[in-house]
Amino acid sequence: MKNQNAVPDTRYVFVTGGVTSSLGKGIISASLAKLLQSRGYRVTIQKLDPYLNVDPGTLNPYEHGECYVTEDGAETDLDLGHYERFLNVPTSQANNVTTGRIYQNVINKERRGDYLGKTVQIIPHITDEIKRNIKLLGSKHRFDVVITEIGGTVGDIESLPYIEAVRQLKWELGSRAIVIHLTLVPYLAASGELKTKPTQHSVKALLEIGVQPDILVLRTEKDLNSEIRKKVALFCNVDSKAVIQSIDVKSIYEVPVKMQEEGLDEIVLEKLHLPINQKPELKEWKGFLSKLKNAKKTVKIGLVGKYVELTDSYKSIIEALIHAATYHDHKLDIRLIQSETITEENINEKLMDLQGILVAPGFGHRGIEGKLLAVRYAREKNVPFFGVCLGMQCAVIEFARDVLKLDKANSREMDHTTPEPVIDLMEDQKNITDKGGTMRLGAYDCRVKKDSFVYKAYQTELVKERHRHRYEFNNEYLKAFESAGMKATGYNPETNLVEIIEIPKHKWFVGVQFHPEYSSTVLKPHPLFMEFVKASIGQEK
Ligand code: GLN
Repeated sequence: MKNQNAVPDTRYVFVTGGVTSSLGKGIISASLAKLLQSRGYRVTIQKLDPYLNVDPGTLNPYEHGECYVTEDGAETDLDLGHYERFLNVPTSQANNVTTGRIYQNVINKERRGDYLGKTVQIIPHITDEIKRNIKLLGSKHRFDVVITEIGGTVGDIESLPYIEAVRQLKWELGSRAIVIHLTLVPYLAASGELKTKPTQHSVKALLEIGVQPDILVLRTEKDLNSEIRKKVALFCNVDSKAVIQSIDVKSIYEVPVKMQEEGLDEIVLEKLHLPINQKPELKEWKGFLSKLKNAKKTVKIGLVGKYVELTDSYKSIIEALIHAATYHDHKLDIRLIQSETITEENINEKLMDLQGILVAPGFGHRGIEGKLLAVRYAREKNVPFFGVCLGMQCAVIEFARDVLKLDKANSREMDHTTPEPVIDLMEDQKNITDKGGTMRLGAYDCRVKKDSFVYKAYQTELVKERHRHRYEFNNEYLKAFESAGMKATGYNPETNLVEIIEIPKHKWFVGVQFHPEYSSTVLKPHPLFMEFVKASIGQEK
């Protein structure tokens, strides 16, 4: 019988980070994956997060940025969004593992009696569980290369078990596993020097826990000359051609091209003993980049939300807007508007020069009144409007209050005792008390009605979109809405839940209960974002 856990040929690339966080391990991993994919390899990326939450679904976006939802309904780290946007292939629960999940699995096994008689310890039980999760992608999904990004920075207490697992895997897998270490080479303006000492120290920190990096990627704002690269190579025991610079660029989408110029993919393949083949042209990708660079006109879109102080909170929405604007040969001028600051008095001034308004997803009642005012402004002034999840629910509430004259209309999320729950808790949510992983999550079918804004965008009647919510449009009000001019143009074919609303009389007014932003990629921009941005461009001020 075949051993299910065997990893016959899969190669493993581990990406660690040193010196500081936020160096862009996710982007480097996604770029490398893109380059290997363009050479014909089946590649996937995995993110290991060293925190104790079982998933980031219970984290405030201020803490960790947006929560990204996969097709199979996993609430994951936003880096998975980068992976999908770069690779154009879906990720899944297996692509994001946290310390919380690792411990939960180990403790469940302990309770089941799987380790009967043994003392359960970090080594080997936690490290074995980490290794199992890493290898799972290779064995079960048969990828040629699995790139595993270790969250955090080397030296953190929290990431130690992960680095230990990497050390063991390198030993077990030999030349089928390599480590890329990403560090920072700071530039000291006062002395005009680039400094390699932090890199040397962080490689030392890795060596102390038994891991010798094979490749170093150095983040820098200035070009690193061969002298500096040689010095780093010498002090860190790596080949000088395995010292790769990652220079600051304007758009994250330039990074794969930069990494190709630096030969990152070739050195990785060489070290993994895989055929290098022909250098890919990246034609379509470069086509996108040239549009991005050469766009002369601008489209001004307002993103109304309550987490705007941290743009990572709306990562996928902003990227989806960039994709769409770029394909329409426009630069995106995004205005992040804190919904809590919008009042009847200042709304005109705040939203005046916007060509399109997007009301963002969210939870809880903070900032809701501002969102409702933004919806009203867009509806009355005929400004293209896109409501996403809570944004769609706001469009429904606003319409109910202002057009249907139900002034007490609300979502039950905001007012538990509302007499007009136009947005209500879904039936199957009513008995749920746990907060983690219990929303309506993942991809569901949506049937799209012909003769609608959304059909014009999708050009097909059946689509699949990802969800993350507990509340829904209340179908008891559907007739009233439709006869007053707000139509349901998308619904779930099994449950009849309303997934899309629009106002056909408006220039472009669409609200979606799902999250289209999660599935917009560089080479496949999302049709709804394409149409929303197109309508906004038509609104030229
Ligand atoms: N809070 C709303 C719900 O749970 C909307 C969620 C969201 O915007 N993702 O239904």
